Amino acid sequence: MISKTIAELIYYAEKHLYLLDSDKIYFTNILLHFFGANEPYEGEIDKVRIESMEVPDEIVSEIFEHCLLSGDDEKEAERKADFALGIVSPLPSLVNGAFEEFKKNDPATALQFLKSLGTSNYYFQKTKVERNKDWTMTFEDGPNITLSINLSKPEKNNKDIAKLLTTASTNYPKCALCVENIGFYGDDKHAARMTIRYVPLDLAGERWYLQYSPYGYFRNHCICFKEDHIPMKVERKTFDRLLSFVEQFPSFFMGSNSDLPIVGGSILNHEHFQGGSPVLPLFASKDKEVIFTSKSGTKVAKVDSFTNTLRISGKDKEEIMDLGEKILNAWRIYDNEELGILHETDGNRHNTVTSYAIKNGEEYQLIIVLRCNITNEKYPDGVFHAHPEYHAIKKEGIGLIECAGEFVLPARLERQIKEVEESVNLSKEEYLKKYPDMSLFEDMINAMKENPSLDAGSYIGQVCRNILRNVAVFKDDEKGQQAYDAFLKEALK
Ligand SMILES: [Zn+2]
Repeated sequence: MISKTIAELIYYAEKHLYLLDSDKIYFTNILLHFFGANEPYEGEIDKVRIESMEVPDEIVSEIFEHCLLSGDDEKEAERKADFALGIVSPLPSLVNGAFEEFKKNDPATALQFLKSLGTSNYYFQKTKVERNKDWTMTFEDGPNITLSINLSKPEKNNKDIAKLLTTASTNYPKCALCVENIGFYGDDKHAARMTIRYVPLDLAGERWYLQYSPYGYFRNHCICFKEDHIPMKVERKTFDRLLSFVEQFPSFFMGSNSDLPIVGGSILNHEHFQGGSPVLPLFASKDKEVIFTSKSGTKVAKVDSFTNTLRISGKDKEEIMDLGEKILNAWRIYDNEELGILHETDGNRHNTVTSYAIKNGEEYQLIIVLRCNITNEKYPDGVFHAHPEYHAIKKEGIGLIECAGEFVLPARLERQIKEVEESVNLSKEEYLKKYPDMSLFEDMINAMKENPSLDAGSYIGQVCRNILRNVAVFKDDEKGQQAYDAFLKEALK
């Protein structure tokens, strides 16, 4: 009975979402009307059970079932559940005020407040995210890689992402990151966002907002986005904003994808960053070689990684930005035909960077990964992108999360790994007949047949390391490293 579910939801909101007693009747009536019920439930509800709930999953599934039985499709049922949880959540103005108050005392508490609100109101679907399969690979020749099969996120492809950049958006909201998403009911093209709450931030003198990611790719995965819907552009100001974030919230890192397709993130048409608790493998990776030290002690070092990663560290933010800008500007116009790096072809720019900021005590770190999105006949999806033999594992753009050693893998792999494991004991004819898409996994099946101690997780971990090697613009060989050193010398002179 939906009126009983509404009574449970109102009680849940009172206990977990700051709903005030004086607002209960008001929200009960809104929900009764919305779900087509005539009067409130007068019977008992299990208050003890509701008080002990950490997440509202049971209430959400009751609403969902009701909607399906009333003839809604699954998408509409999800939107209605999102509406119900969103309407009983605190108003954005109250969330902003509380966040500011917490931040004055302890920024980490403010971040935790926003995260737990999003968990309690079903914006961040904790139960789903906890079903993700995670594992870590250690390597002798470089840093760890952590892997996660993300069961809640749709797989995207680079061509669609590039298209998004050039299509004039006539829809409302313009994109998934625009400020107008808050309280949006959702439709075929846009996700329901009744439950989202973001808070305003000042980043280097500009208005930005902070929200958590609904998908949670890693611990405390959050997103910062600019107030205006303008395309990603990596420049000195980018480093300034990233450092400004970690200055205010030193317990989190903040990173920026590059501003070009293939080597960027999935949303290029709205300036945004991603951050979280600094647990990603790259941040724990040591400096391999210090290549520059300023008079005041700011250092530039090559980081031990499978890509071309530099760490600029010191206490002087301005000097860090100066050095970051020097490297960026030199890289933007760098050409090396022999290595296949061309900064521009047919008016299209190719060279860019992925960047991150971290605060470690008094010290700031700006981490820069050199990227190039050039394509050719052999590699139409990108020369410095995952090569075709690895696309069955990962085809999407290698963005800031993967460059930091955390691979978010598509949900389909959960099923495909089981099929691979079964196929190892079958002949090629047998497994292709049973699972046609195993033709994409022949290398993996053969490798596991040849080496019975190789498990699927390790094989995939090695593929991810090879993908990072594909991403490296200066390869780990003599020619590549000589060119890398020459580039850095020129950039920092
Ligand atoms: Zn936007």
